[in-house]
Amino acid sequence: MTLSFKFGTVGSPAGTPKKPGGTIGAIAFSKGIGLDTLELGWVQSVRVSEATCAAIKATAEENSVVLSVHAPYFINLNADKDEWPKSRKRLMDAAHYGFLAGATDIIFHPGSYFGADPAAVLKTALPRLEGCVKELQKNGDRVTLRPETMGKSAMLGSFDDALAMSKAMDRVQPCLDFAHLHARPGDGSMNTYDEWSRLLERYGKNLGTSALKNLHIHLSGIEYGPKGEKNHLPLKEADLDLNALFKALNDFHCGGRILCESPIMEKDALTMKKAWMKASGEKEK
Ligand SMILES: [Zn+2]
Repeated sequence: MTLSFKFGTVGSPAGTPKKPGGTIGAIAFSKGIGLDTLELGWVQSVRVSEATCAAIKATAEENSVVLSVHAPYFINLNADKDEWPKSRKRLMDAAHYGFLAGATDIIFHPGSYFGADPAAVLKTALPRLEGCVKELQKNGDRVTLRPETMGKSAMLGSFDDALAMSKAMDRVQPCLDFAHLHARPGDGSMNTYDEWSRLLERYGKNLGTSALKNLHIHLSGIEYGPKGEKNHLPLKEADLDLNALFKALNDFHCGGRILCESPIMEKDALTMKKAWMKASGEKEK
């Protein structure tokens, strides 16, 4: 039996050797320590050749490591008219080159409300995102775009925003960042079995129970204040109730990928994997 979830890091694991370094080295290193997914951190810009993409894809297939891409931070579905074409290009480049590199899922930060009402912002954001999806389909770039749930209350990317985007069109599904979901209310809530269960129940009702088997999760400890996220923390130094979360994920028969964003990267990714095996009773084949 394989585990319902694959585990890995966002960005290359800290222990990736210098040779071969880069993504190629990160894939092989991940496999060697018992991780089977990796999210490529193309967070500043997309600067990769088609030849490099082909090499990444081949290495991932050889090692049976599945890939996602974290698109550049500077994407905003609510950007003004002048800025939007640049934002759009960053997302489209991440998706196109990500697809060439063998990635199936492209994670992005949806943007900012700029103080406007979320409903009004979605009126701008949804058609823009749909335009991107349609163009990717036309190009044959078969990826799922994943708007990430964001940790600050001023940012486009509440759980409801991510659901709205995913319901409105095909090939868009949330990236559930549970640390952000916990930090966003700013009062320590969203950290119990019941709260996680209600969230997963809504996820299943809105996107179908089969979508629960294909979750894309970001996870770490997190420090927060009244306005939400401050910074990511190692699991041990934070209050996130990992066991309650994993019990809920297991009770809702969830699966997919869990990517660790803790400062101690692969150490916490392996801690999560162990905790999942304990919570689910699953064993590696
Ligand atoms: Zn992110």
